[in-house]
Amino acid sequence: MHAPALSDRSIEAYADTVEAEQLDRLRSFAEELEDDRILHVNSTATGGGVAELLRSIVPLCNDLGVDTDWLVLDADDEFFAVTKSIHNGLQGDDAPLTDPMKATYRSVTERNAAEVDDEYDLVVLHDPQPLGMIDRLRERLPDAPIVWRCHIDLTDPSPDHLAFVTEYASRVDHAIASRSDYAGVIDVPTRVVHPSIDPLSEKNRSLDEATVSSERDRLYPLSFDAPLVAQVSRFDPWKDQFGTLAAFRRARDEIPGLQLALAGAMAGDDPEALEVYERVAKDAAGEPHVHVLTDLPDTTINALQRGADVVVQKSLREGFGLVVSEALWKRTPVVGSTVGGIPLQIEDGRTGHLVDPDDAQAAGARVVDLLDDDDRRRTFGANGREHVRDRFLLPRQIADLFDVLLDVLD
Ligand code: UDP
Repeated sequence: MHAPALSDRSIEAYADTVEAEQLDRLRSFAEELEDDRILHVNSTATGGGVAELLRSIVPLCNDLGVDTDWLVLDADDEFFAVTKSIHNGLQGDDAPLTDPMKATYRSVTERNAAEVDDEYDLVVLHDPQPLGMIDRLRERLPDAPIVWRCHIDLTDPSPDHLAFVTEYASRVDHAIASRSDYAGVIDVPTRVVHPSIDPLSEKNRSLDEATVSSERDRLYPLSFDAPLVAQVSRFDPWKDQFGTLAAFRRARDEIPGLQLALAGAMAGDDPEALEVYERVAKDAAGEPHVHVLTDLPDTTINALQRGADVVVQKSLREGFGLVVSEALWKRTPVVGSTVGGIPLQIEDGRTGHLVDPDDAQAAGARVVDLLDDDDRRRTFGANGREHVRDRFLLPRQIADLFDVLLDVLD
C-alpha cells in the first residue's frame, strides 16, 4: 500500500463559494469525529473520479480535525485486468471471471490488507478493487466498522460478477452508493452520498487571462475562437467516445468549422485505456477538426471545459460523472445521456439536454440547438453553475459522508 502526496486544503478558503449553513453543518459533524482515525483505500492515485474525490476529501478532512489517511493498493497489471473485468461485469458486460482471476484478486487484496496498521477506527473501501481485504482487515482491526463506497453504475449488473462482489460486500457494516436506485443491490444498510467537485482544485478554480492564454497556446491548433464541443473522459467503452464522434459529425453538417476535443486520461488501474484510445484515434484520423488529446494537466482540462461551447457526456453507463459538474461549474452547458448520475446534474432544458444513450443523432441535434443560440447557452451556463453550487460542491459531500460515518460508528 502507498500513500499519495497531497496538497493542503483549508476550510476557510471555501467561505466565499459555499453557503455558511453548509460549512456550519460540516464543522459540527467534524467535531463529533475528532477522536476517530479514518482510512480510505482505493486502487489508483491518479485518473478517474475516485482519485479526484479523495485528493480533495482527505486533506480537507484533516484540516477539519478528522484524522484521515488515504492508501492505494500496490498491484500489477494482472490484478487490474481482473478488477476491470469485475467493473465491466457490474456495469452489465459479459466480461470473463475465471477461478484463476478470482485467485489473483484474493491474493493481491489479502497481501495489501496485511500492510494496514491497526490503529484505525473506521475503514472506507472504494469500489470493488479493495473489497477482498475485508477478512484480513477484520482480523487486524476487530473493532473498526468497514464501509464500502461504490461509485459504479449498478443498474444492470451481470449475475456472476454481482455474486462474486456480493460475497465480500454483504459482509461490510455499511455501504454508500452514488444514486438511490443502486442502494438495494447489495443487501447491507446503504445510504446515498452524491459525489462532488472541488471548486478550489486546479481543475476547477477560476483562471486568470494570462493562464487561459497560455493554455490556448498549448492546445493549438484547437481554437477557442471557433465553435468547440468537448468530452473529457477516460478512454473506456462506457464513456462512448464513438457516440460523441457520431454526434459531432451530425452537428458539423450544420455548423461549419465545428471542432471536437476528446480529452482522455490513462488511469493507472485501467488496462483498456490504450486500446480504446487507439481505436478512437483511428476513427478520427483524417478529420482535422477532431483533436484526440491524452493526459492533459488539470489546468489545461480546466481551460478546455471553460473554452468549449458545449460539453458532451454521452456515456452508456455512469456511476456519477464528475465531468458533468466540472463543466456546469464553468458555465458550459452539457448534452448528456440519461444514465447513472448524469440526470442528477443535467436538468433538461435548464442546464443542458438529456438524450437516450443510444441516440447519437439526438445528441448531435441538441448540440446544434445550443450552438445556434448564444442566449440559451449563457442562461444554461448560469443555471448550471448555481445547480452545482447548491448540490455538488465538496463541503456538502464531506458533510454527508461524515453523517454516514457517525451513524456507523454510533
Ligand atoms: N479526467 C482528467 N483528464 C482526462 C480525463 C478525465 O483529469 O483526460 C478527470 C475528470 O476531469 C474527472 C475524472 O477524471 O475529474 C473523471 O471522473 P468521472 O466521475 O467523470 O468518471 P470516472 O473516470 O470516475 O468513471
